[in-house]
Amino acid sequence: MKFATFADRAAEIDAESADLEIVDHVRDLLVDAGEEIEVVARFVQGRVFPAWDSTTLDVGPSACYEAIARAAGTNVDTDDVEDRLAEIGEIGEVAASYEFGGQQGLGAFTSGGSGGDDLTVREVYETLENLAAAEGSGSQDRKVDLLFGLFNRCSGDEGRYLARLVLSEMRIGVGEGAVRDAIADAFDVPGERVERALQVSNDYGRIARVAREDGLAGLDAVDLAVGRPVQAMLAQAGTVTEALEEWEDAAVEWKYDGARIQLHHDPDGLEHDLGALGASSDTPPGNSRDHTRVFSRNMEDVTDALPEVVEFAEGTLEEPVILDGEVVAVDDDGEPLPFQEVLKRFRRKHDVEKAREDVTVRPVFFDCLHADGEDLLEEPLVDRHDRLGDVLTASTNAAVEPEDVDGLSLLWITDDADEIESIDADALAAGHEGIMLKDPESTYSPGRRGKNWRKRKPDVETLDCVVTGAEWGEGRRATFLGTFELSVRDGDSEKRRSSGSVVSAQNLATVGKVATGITDEKLAELTELLEPHVAAENGQEVTLEPAVVFEVGYEEIQTSPTYSSGYALRFPRFVGVRHDKDPSDAETLERVESLRSS
Ligand code: AMP
Repeated sequence: MKFATFADRAAEIDAESADLEIVDHVRDLLVDAGEEIEVVARFVQGRVFPAWDSTTLDVGPSACYEAIARAAGTNVDTDDVEDRLAEIGEIGEVAASYEFGGQQGLGAFTSGGSGGDDLTVREVYETLENLAAAEGSGSQDRKVDLLFGLFNRCSGDEGRYLARLVLSEMRIGVGEGAVRDAIADAFDVPGERVERALQVSNDYGRIARVAREDGLAGLDAVDLAVGRPVQAMLAQAGTVTEALEEWEDAAVEWKYDGARIQLHHDPDGLEHDLGALGASSDTPPGNSRDHTRVFSRNMEDVTDALPEVVEFAEGTLEEPVILDGEVVAVDDDGEPLPFQEVLKRFRRKHDVEKAREDVTVRPVFFDCLHADGEDLLEEPLVDRHDRLGDVLTASTNAAVEPEDVDGLSLLWITDDADEIESIDADALAAGHEGIMLKDPESTYSPGRRGKNWRKRKPDVETLDCVVTGAEWGEGRRATFLGTFELSVRDGDSEKRRSSGSVVSAQNLATVGKVATGITDEKLAELTELLEPHVAAENGQEVTLEPAVVFEVGYEEIQTSPTYSSGYALRFPRFVGVRHDKDPSDAETLERVESLRSS
């Protein structure tokens, strides 16, 4: 396809605002794209390379302005281009405002093109591919030369869309959904099957060709490839209550505070040509990257920054796999460090070994998308997790308990809110972010932020509550007070119901008990603080005179007959002692009521 034809069609789409009309235009474009269908399907979205390919053009705006200036003639310089840009505000419009082609002979030569006047889509792609590959000293000049060669052969809309493509500013309103629908429409295949094939391949160009040439059977045969990243499944915020209402059981995992990684490993070596037109790996053979690649949540290749993950893969994995997980920074004892520490390592390109001395990272995996030739996206989460356990233990002969498997995120299946609360408490005590709740039966949906994965909603607000009771602990906690009863001020005595729990002159009403988020060290401190205020004891239960105020986070407020306020804090967690407050400063029942209805 001539690039001029592509540019004309892009201009038509640009002028269209109705979604359905846009899909029709893209459909016609794909039908007419001929041999260049892969490239056309990407260019129309403003992409040069497939989404899974982390190759970038690495061209800054100034290189593009320089190329435009040179193609526009000897009396135009970069300043003129920038001035026009400041005036007009959009680089495509600026490029279209120039008459290119003054340097014809040189342009045809440097672009490496066939020499004819008509630029083709393929020539533009191949030139941009060469441009992306330019590295080392002099590469910026080479990039400008190559771009100049292209602009020099452009006229009108060609220049407009070339400039926008190069600077990732296509913006003609063609999203991923439009291309998906256009492929389905153009080649008469169901949209959801196109969608599935796109999810596993992340390659709109390839899927357009497969749909055209092999129809539905071809689409259904598109598989994951070890070495080619898949979009990560994402989580929504949600509460324990919602999860338990919707699912029979919830799968509960710790939420690690690190950076998402997708590990691709093949002991026999990764495939090199993964099928993008002209895009293949340039990794030298024998390098460990040949067996292992690590990608970020955005499918960026971060292998070189994380040698620990590569070493883990090589020491542990015995079959081709794609694993989903998190890389966490850890201290010398293996305890997790805050997220900011991982950032010092993730995406680092230089001095990796030095950075590794300062911050160590370790991977934890929670999902298995592919194992030994089998795609597992359609399998239920629990089965994928079982497979993950097998994959991570394949190299050990002895049977190992899940908690002893290096790199395995533990998973509990339960419908018991109290158990979830205690898993949450353990996660926090171990220095993690909290918990994730997942539907145990759910499939893996790449790129989707659905309800099947929920990160437990962070506490919206905290309440300052008076501590009006507690319980002596058991076993090693026998000398500590714990499970603290929380109350708020209730000015309106009519509303109070007698519950047999603490009453004081100050009109307090109970709203819940907190036992979560407190370390043993903290319990010892709290016991010391509260013991002088013990007013009565009944077995393990202790009544406290109102003196100490706790700041408490919670998931939500529900009506409840259990507490004298008529309300209960769901999943309360201890945040801290408000030494600066006394009971008369604590929250009121009125406020609890208004929070409940808000
Ligand atoms: P957020 O970044 O707050 O949207 O939370 C979702 C992120 O939590 C995921 O993208 C992962 O990077 C991370 N995460 C940590 N632990 C888990 C887990 N067990 N399951 C899924 N995601 C997790």
